[in-house]
Amino acid sequence: MVDRSVANIVLFGPPGAGKGTQADKLVNEFKLFKVSTGDLLREEIKKKSALGNKIKSIIDKGMLVQDNIINDLIEKVLDKKKYFNSLIFDGYPRNLSQAKNLDKLIKKYKQKLSCVLSLKVDTDIIVKRILGRLICSKCGSIFNSFFSPATKENHHCGSKFLQRRSDDNEESIKNRFQIYNTETLPILDYYENQKLLHEIDGMRDISIIYKEIRQIIHALESWLYNVYLYK
Ligand code: ADP
Repeated sequence: MVDRSVANIVLFGPPGAGKGTQADKLVNEFKLFKVSTGDLLREEIKKKSALGNKIKSIIDKGMLVQDNIINDLIEKVLDKKKYFNSLIFDGYPRNLSQAKNLDKLIKKYKQKLSCVLSLKVDTDIIVKRILGRLICSKCGSIFNSFFSPATKENHHCGSKFLQRRSDDNEESIKNRFQIYNTETLPILDYYENQKLLHEIDGMRDISIIYKEIRQIIHALESWLYNVYLYK
């Protein structure tokens, strides 16, 4: 039984599409939890374990980490009662086999996928977003040297904490795009067939994109409400 009005959500889009930014907003408003496979993998790298070192060499090349590693990470999250039907997946699934595995796990843990929100952004804009991306290692804020630079007013930790991700370089970006086009994009048909897909123009202002996402979610909420009220 679904015991809340919004169930799990997949945020879909190319690297640098702004999935993380929108996910953070959804987390705050709808009391959801974000699962970013990229973040989970970077946490493993920080541990400097054998697995972490292996993952780092794959990520720095812009390749995909093996499905079995990713599937294990995701199962650990879906298994936790605290996150029941409250997850936003950011950067996952990334190929058809991961999408099918997610369906299997969602069934196994008696949950639901309420929608797939796909952010569409032109490649030239994305390259600038990625190459300009700076992350504060102290507070976690994300800035962009082209579009939204850190200033004394909007960031108080100081510029020495601003860092680039080690995979935000041109060579890795080329690979990430190629893999996105060949392996990740075909998932859209899979979700379209399940009538879960919502396409969103991701080239507008962050707040305008978010407004559209909220509308989609509110429409789903009232739909779910009616289903459970009148069943
Ligand atoms: P981006 O939005 O730039 O793709 P992420 O933080 O989502 O950044 O991912 C960074 C890297 O982590 C990817 O390029 C890939 O190497 C690895 N990765 C993240 N999620 C997955 C996944 N679901 N399957 C395989 N590899 C992944």
